[in-house]
Amino acid sequence: MPAKLIDGKQIAADKRQQIKVKVQELAEKGLVPGLAVILVGENPASQSYVKGKIRDCKEVGIHSELIRLPETVTEEELLAEVVRLNRAPSIHGILVQLPLPKQISEDKVIETIAPEKDVDGFHPVNLGKMMIGQDCFEPCTPAGIIEMLHACKIRIAGKHVIIVGRSHIVGKPASQLFLNHDATVTICHSRTTPLAEYTKQADILVVAVGHAGLIGAEDIKPGAIVVDVGMNRNADGKLVGDVEFPEVSQKASFITPVPGGVGPMTRVMLLENTVKAALASDGRLQSE
Ligand code: NDP
Repeated sequence: MPAKLIDGKQIAADKRQQIKVKVQELAEKGLVPGLAVILVGENPASQSYVKGKIRDCKEVGIHSELIRLPETVTEEELLAEVVRLNRAPSIHGILVQLPLPKQISEDKVIETIAPEKDVDGFHPVNLGKMMIGQDCFEPCTPAGIIEMLHACKIRIAGKHVIIVGRSHIVGKPASQLFLNHDATVTICHSRTTPLAEYTKQADILVVAVGHAGLIGAEDIKPGAIVVDVGMNRNADGKLVGDVEFPEVSQKASFITPVPGGVGPMTRVMLLENTVKAALASDGRLQSE
């Protein structure tokens, strides 16, 4: 029997609607959540991501500011911009679109963002808090994955979750979040051999590599839940994931499509984090 589709697009649309209502309520109380997005250079993928994020903000009523800086911007200039936004009262969330040009240290930029405005959840303070189970901004992609599994009423506790990929933005934080949700977690990466021996053990398989066709039907166990984070362009320019969808969807019990799976969830979690940041900034509303 073919797998059930985990429809990230629909789950994210429903969530945006809830966020829109929340933002309206806050606006009536005099608090308009604000997100600043810094885009450096002309990278087409980055431009398209940023455009989507600004559009999402407009849709739900979040105030957004796009700060465009040239490819030649110095690290000092970029850091000064982040410091200015850290102090701006109308801005509750700051996102610096990655990657940055090579003259700029991404670590330094992320560490300069005030942790309470770090809606991407990449600041070491937020990552550290996540590790010890404290309230924090969770990175949007892993948080979106958990959210979509919840929306499909998929139980995480007690499951063996295998995560392929150990990047700071997806694999590692995803492993921590699943652990926080009482899963048993195994992390695989480019040195894991043989990869299939691991992936075949997964109750929930999360693949975040960036390698089209990495996971085929022979690499999963029957009935596994498969979450495909990968975004790759195939020879026809079509967006595809890391998982061979047609064959894997015949063997899995649930599967996310690409596009329309994890991507829309990542975007909506940024909105959620921005509202959370705005609320946390306002002691008056926090206590309600
Ligand atoms: P990175 O390139 O930072 O990390 C890739 C990871 O995959 C690394 O840990 C690497 O291992 C591992 N890897 C590489 N080759 C293999 C292999 N053959 N077998 C097992 N593991 C391997 O990528 P990101 O985490 O940033 O992104 C991963 C994918 O997810 C990309 O396609 C990206 O576009 C997509 N993405 C999608 C998002 C969404 O919202 N849908 C959001 C963010 C990313 P090692 O550490 O050993 O090098």
